[in-house]
Amino acid sequence: MLKEKLQQVREEAAEELRRAETSEDIEALRILFLGKKGRITSLLSEMGKLPPEERPVIGQAANEVRNFVEAMIKEKKSEIGRRELELRLKKEKLDITLPGKPVMIGRQHPLHLVLDEIEDAFISMGFTIENGPEVEFDKYNFEKLNIPADHPARDTQDTFYFTPDILLRTQTSSVQVRVMEKQAPPIRILSPGRVFRIDEIDATHSPVFHQIEGLVIDEGITMSHLKGALETMAKKLFGENVKTRIRPDYFPFTEPSAEICVSCFRCGGEGCRFCKGEGWIEIGGAGMVNPKVLEGCGIDSVKYSGFAFGMGLERLVMLRYKIDDIRMFFENDIRFLNNF
Ligand SMILES: [Zn+2]
Repeated sequence: MLKEKLQQVREEAAEELRRAETSEDIEALRILFLGKKGRITSLLSEMGKLPPEERPVIGQAANEVRNFVEAMIKEKKSEIGRRELELRLKKEKLDITLPGKPVMIGRQHPLHLVLDEIEDAFISMGFTIENGPEVEFDKYNFEKLNIPADHPARDTQDTFYFTPDILLRTQTSSVQVRVMEKQAPPIRILSPGRVFRIDEIDATHSPVFHQIEGLVIDEGITMSHLKGALETMAKKLFGENVKTRIRPDYFPFTEPSAEICVSCFRCGGEGCRFCKGEGWIEIGGAGMVNPKVLEGCGIDSVKYSGFAFGMGLERLVMLRYKIDDIRMFFENDIRFLNNF
């Protein structure tokens, strides 16, 4: 009787295990057949009722069935394990040929882009870059540049004052004075930076903008040195074919003073709407440093002479990239900035 029951358990186990599909199924079957309260264990507990001479035979048969079920479970487990692993690998497969997600890369602001080029041009001519404070004393921004308190030039530079003596610099010329005061000639500097003037914001005006000023002081410096330096820079910025022209102008801190023009890079100098038919575009002012300014900074104006020039960075960049609204520079619109 018991022997038949064992045989039946063996067949059931075999059948169930064949149909098992997951590790969970196998584990449930293991508990069902081999567990402490499992089918085989409970059959073995019935062995006590058997006559002693039958026990070894049944015991052997029971062991044989248990070994059989154990072996089958082991085999089935590894088979299912393999299949489940394959399935998982398939699901987790990484397609390395898929295009990656684009990474946002920062860009240089167009003002910086052009400033770097200008700095390079002047560094290659032996200039160093000098910076100074944006909150400045009146004497460095005006007085020592030959612009006393009653000078009409002050009217053209509407100034943000903190106190009668302290202001937001209206020009980077203040850096030139600071350098001349502490450094003996020869001097060859470029001072780029932010300047501030009270102004309504529109397409061509902003109360904050950038200037680039240059200063050279040495023995025997003349207007031709100035022209040479400006030509080198203009060619670097606008190409080899650009021509540079200087024409008389007036600034308190230079004598004589000149307006700097470059030949129109749209029409090549023939005259177009862009240059208003003149063939030339003004990019800044320049001149020989006024001896009064040199003396005021403790430099011997008989022994030394020098030239200075100044340009608005925004204007240069607007000309270069044909940008028609200065506000674009300050709005941080990524669609605009991505063009450079
Ligand atoms: Zn033109």
